[in-house]
Amino acid sequence: MAPNFAFLPPRIAGLAGIALNVSWSWNREARALFRSIDEQLWVRCRHDPIQLLQRTSVERLAQCATDPSFIARYDAVVSWQTAEQSTDVTWFAQHYPALREGPIAYFCAEFGVYHTVPIYSGGLGVLAGDHCKTASDLGVPLVGVGLLYRAGFFDQRIRPDGWQEDSEDPLELENTMLEPVSGVNGQQWLASVRTDGRDVYIRVWRLRVGRVTIYLLDSKLDENHPDDRGLLSRLYAGGPELRLKQEWLLGVGGVRVLRALGVEPKAWHANEGHAAFMFIERLRTLVAAGRTYADAIAMVRATSTFTTHTPVPAGHDVFPAERVAQVTGPVWDEMGIDRATFMALGHEPTAHNGAFHMTVAAIRLSRHVNAVALTHEVVTRRIWTRLWPERPLDQVPIGHVTNGVHLATWMANKVMNLLDRHVGPDWPLRVDDPSMWDHLLDLDDRELWRVHVSLKNTLLRHVREHARYAYSRRTREVSELAGTGILLDPSALTLGFARRFATYKRANLMFHDVERLLRLLTDTSRPVQVVFAGKAHPADDPGKRVLQEIYHATRDTRFEGRIAFVEDYDVHLAHVLVQGVDCWLNLPRVPMEASGTSGMKAALNGVPQISTIDGWWAEGYDGQNGWAIATPATGDDGPDADHAVASQFYDLLEREVVPAYYDQDRNGVSTRWTKVMKHALRVAGRQFTSRRMLTEYVKDYYVPSMEGATTRDDPPTA
Ligand SMILES: *Cc1c(COP(=O)(O)O)cnc(C)c1O
Repeated sequence: MAPNFAFLPPRIAGLAGIALNVSWSWNREARALFRSIDEQLWVRCRHDPIQLLQRTSVERLAQCATDPSFIARYDAVVSWQTAEQSTDVTWFAQHYPALREGPIAYFCAEFGVYHTVPIYSGGLGVLAGDHCKTASDLGVPLVGVGLLYRAGFFDQRIRPDGWQEDSEDPLELENTMLEPVSGVNGQQWLASVRTDGRDVYIRVWRLRVGRVTIYLLDSKLDENHPDDRGLLSRLYAGGPELRLKQEWLLGVGGVRVLRALGVEPKAWHANEGHAAFMFIERLRTLVAAGRTYADAIAMVRATSTFTTHTPVPAGHDVFPAERVAQVTGPVWDEMGIDRATFMALGHEPTAHNGAFHMTVAAIRLSRHVNAVALTHEVVTRRIWTRLWPERPLDQVPIGHVTNGVHLATWMANKVMNLLDRHVGPDWPLRVDDPSMWDHLLDLDDRELWRVHVSLKNTLLRHVREHARYAYSRRTREVSELAGTGILLDPSALTLGFARRFATYKRANLMFHDVERLLRLLTDTSRPVQVVFAGKAHPADDPGKRVLQEIYHATRDTRFEGRIAFVEDYDVHLAHVLVQGVDCWLNLPRVPMEASGTSGMKAALNGVPQISTIDGWWAEGYDGQNGWAIATPATGDDGPDADHAVASQFYDLLEREVVPAYYDQDRNGVSTRWTKVMKHALRVAGRQFTSRRMLTEYVKDYYVPSMEGATTRDDPPTA
């Protein structure tokens, strides 16, 4: 079922292997190699090398195979990929030679590795993707386990009235990087999981992320009851009933699949509560092998890490005990306990309905529990102190590892080239050296600005081509075209806001005082424009109403086409946006944004942000790398708070952001602005890469788990 590349000329047949491991996507030379095959086609294929190779003419491929310059670059990429497969000289091998075999199992319900495999909905999945990419870079022996949503995350289409419609565009697996993994006897399935009274057979697809493999579970098999074949096909679109079954299959099926593959993890990481049933299957296995339940609990806890990603209640799955019992069957019998003891694992002490809370179960069964930023840690302790009623708040054993993003994925080629020139081509080997990042404060202003302007032009070109496509396919009427961004002005200060349309993110906050916004946007000498993108969860009507409000604004002639909405936000569009706008916007209601990562991606491209002081910005803002909106003294909840926050937002724009941007010299360069850009880049590079994040997970959690360290354990008592 893997793509057929038999047509490739033998001299460059290795392009197939390069295209099938997503590591090409974070290698500059590999990206440039594909691009050079046919630049226009590359853009039209949305940087999908599999499509590119399939659509390139035989003549052109033959030309490449005999072009000395192409061959030289091809050979270099092939040898890079070969070296990349070795695990001998990695950071992990050097620091932990005795633990090199690992492995660490990393369970997550979504992975955002590349846009051609759309099995993520937002920040959580993209973070998991960046985590795996970084594990590959550092040689951390990680194995990912997730679900293959064949229908992908929905495609977004906005109706003329602004309402979001969700359409499905099933993945054509044979045209992706996914490769089927067969069972030991050559059968398609690797494991089965009993759920709702039936056995569901699980097959597996392999996604290669450099040195790391992610195994994706799938139930589309003839062996399965017709109703069960599509169980895993949709991401978050089936309601809680389907979600519960998906999570049971992920947790139990994931552990069994690893066993079938002969993978024996020494440490386990549940990334968000969706994966909590993984703990149950491990308990069951240990008891079946003769351990007491108490021993099994201690062993599972000692080797487990759990990361919680949001304080927003809707982000935590809670299922009725009755339904859980039906889906799991009497699994407690195999765990040596009764049903009540089993349900108690997921019992949330303040709830009286006996529901099974996935986050609570994961906390109970993990020694290492962490939030994803310092502020989020404080909030998370406050929420979960109820599990340790006898302890003061500051002794609730929940820590934090602040999120980070994968530099080589998110930093534009042109910015990397700028670093080559300024620091020297070996800078990627020096990223752990803070002084290297300090040195970026001396970047040449004109050169930095030139790079930025070129990335901004790429964004505006992308927006135009998107509009042209929609127009030519008649999916957009003439009257709607202005709202797609075709009127955007390359010289105007451009703000970007792209993320899920969850209401707490307040995409519509800037419309609080429309008159004031109008004055800002339509100022004749110093105009401001805004580009929006993002999807609302299919079941989130309030989120869809916010999106509709934005959409109406894009069509409101008073704004003169200075507000744009670009459909179908995904990691591809995210790249273009975070690299191409002048300033990133982040206006979450404090303290609802656990971390936020898109602003880090922007900052790695020298794009500063304006943000409320929440998530990573509470650690990242240093007074010079962007702008911060203080939290109202009375808290950031309710209409009064929105009013205060919006006023500050306008104030900041009027008094600081706009004047700094337009303080341009004869060459159109504002050194006030480039200074902020440099500081944004410096702070992001020093503190907010996934490299820093992963080394913390390794040192603080994975290694202690793998070494079986028996430091004081603090199981929750409530
Ligand atoms: C980075 C990213 C996100 C997360 O953005 P936040 O800042 O956390 O809101 C969501 N979606 C995509 C496609 C991303 O690349």
